[in-house]
Amino acid sequence: MVAMHEMSLALSLLDTIEKSLEGKNVKKLREITIEVGSLAMVNTEQLSFCFSIIAKGEIFSDMKLNIQKKKAVFRCISCQKEVSSEELLSNCSFCGSSMEFMSGDELILKRIKAEVEDA
Ligand SMILES: [Zn+2]
Repeated sequence: MVAMHEMSLALSLLDTIEKSLEGKNVKKLREITIEVGSLAMVNTEQLSFCFSIIAKGEIFSDMKLNIQKKKAVFRCISCQKEVSSEELLSNCSFCGSSMEFMSGDELILKRIKAEVEDA
């Protein structure tokens, strides 16, 4: 079974990759590194699987998809301390105030390694 959430992320990732390759003579992709926030609720195995289904063609034939997990970041609304965590934090461990969510639910394309065709 294919997870819908991961499939839609894989599609938008493919879209982002294709956009970033526009105008470049890329023959083959070697490695794509993405970063997934720990609160993005992404099953990384499902994401790789979905991506392998949709990323067809010679350009993707030897590509490796690297998925790195990134901790979410929260900031205390009163003492401004920033804390990174894999889980949702609601209270500051220093002063007990509420925490504000800063980042950690995104999927970022970090690096593309590609083989470029000789011009
Ligand atoms: Zn605090």
